[in-house]
Amino acid sequence: MMSASPDPLWPSYRAGARLTVDLGAIASNYRYLQSLAAKASCAAVVKADAYGLGIEHVAPVLEDAGATEFFVAHVDEGIRLRSVISDKARITVLHGPRHDAAGDCVRYGLRPVLNSLDQIAVWRSTASQAGKPLEAALQVDSGMSRFGLSRADLDALHEDKGLMEGLRVSLVMSHLACADMPDHPANTVQKKQMLEMSAQLPSAPLSLSASSGIFLGPDYHLDVVRPGAALYGLAPNQAAPNPLSPVVRLQAHVLQIREVGPGDGVGYGLTYRPDQPRRIATVAAGYADGFSRHGAGKGCAWFEDIRLPILGRVSMDSLIVDISDVPDGKLGPDMMVDLIGPRRSVDDVAEAAGTIGYEVLTSLGHRFHREYVGNREASLTG
Ligand SMILES: *Cc1c(COP(=O)(O)O)cnc(C)c1O
Repeated sequence: MMSASPDPLWPSYRAGARLTVDLGAIASNYRYLQSLAAKASCAAVVKADAYGLGIEHVAPVLEDAGATEFFVAHVDEGIRLRSVISDKARITVLHGPRHDAAGDCVRYGLRPVLNSLDQIAVWRSTASQAGKPLEAALQVDSGMSRFGLSRADLDALHEDKGLMEGLRVSLVMSHLACADMPDHPANTVQKKQMLEMSAQLPSAPLSLSASSGIFLGPDYHLDVVRPGAALYGLAPNQAAPNPLSPVVRLQAHVLQIREVGPGDGVGYGLTYRPDQPRRIATVAAGYADGFSRHGAGKGCAWFEDIRLPILGRVSMDSLIVDISDVPDGKLGPDMMVDLIGPRRSVDDVAEAAGTIGYEVLTSLGHRFHREYVGNREASLTG
């Protein structure tokens, strides 16, 4: 590997592991979700650096695939996004305008979600200072108790029309708590609440569903859907096979290979003790790269179609796998094994670690060598 003449643009041999992000798969997932929610407009959620995958790379691809609306969590994320997509794309900030950041929303053309009467007051005074009406999205709390106006807040707005002066409401939204459980009764309850509550507000397009909600069917699509996770290939629920294209592959270098047997211990705490001779490999990715210590016992890597169980504890920068099933001489130092790949999805890794794919994706570290493939620009440089 090291002897092959390296492309100076892609010095992947200097990093422990390579994270490949398939931008073409993200674009095709976007088009698929838009086709499922054909009567709605499909926005794209790119908060948390596009779920850890790199907003600068991901957002322009989504825009090319047809997305005209983007959601981020923070004002800072919106400003960063504004510099990589066109001026006409709409950016909505889920957490709303904090008082000290409201001016930045105006400056960078960010539409805040107003989640409380306080945030409505901030945006009203911002509009008054700006001397022009300002666009806003309103969120209602349909049952999750996280963000959004309560019924009492809606009554207050109804009684005092002045509270909304200077605000041009261009979206009314809410968020489902249990959309990944298609049969959960909270889904229909929340939809009903959302429709009742929005009827008390100025008429505007409605949005209720994120990724999982799209799969609850057309009743849940309303006017705008807001997928994040599904764009990046995560399964919308456990009820059916995942219809989305996988987006990430994580390949880590083998650093060292050795033989162990009865009497030996492996890794911190010597928690794995072989009862027969084993060939093991130390691999260059660890919990500092977002590869959780939890679930190592259930986790594995793959080499081609051979499963390599993770042995003992995951270290900060490395982990150890059992390669006894790999024919002698086939896998050596500097070759790579898959930690996430065709045989093991992000959701599989999450399940072994007792968490969800969202957490695995957003934790994937920044010291991986990252390679973006599957779009025109990537193929020019890669
Ligand atoms: C994160 C988020 C989304 C996207 O959710 P996914 O489950 O990743 O599709 C949509 N809406 C809101 C309000 C969010 O916070």
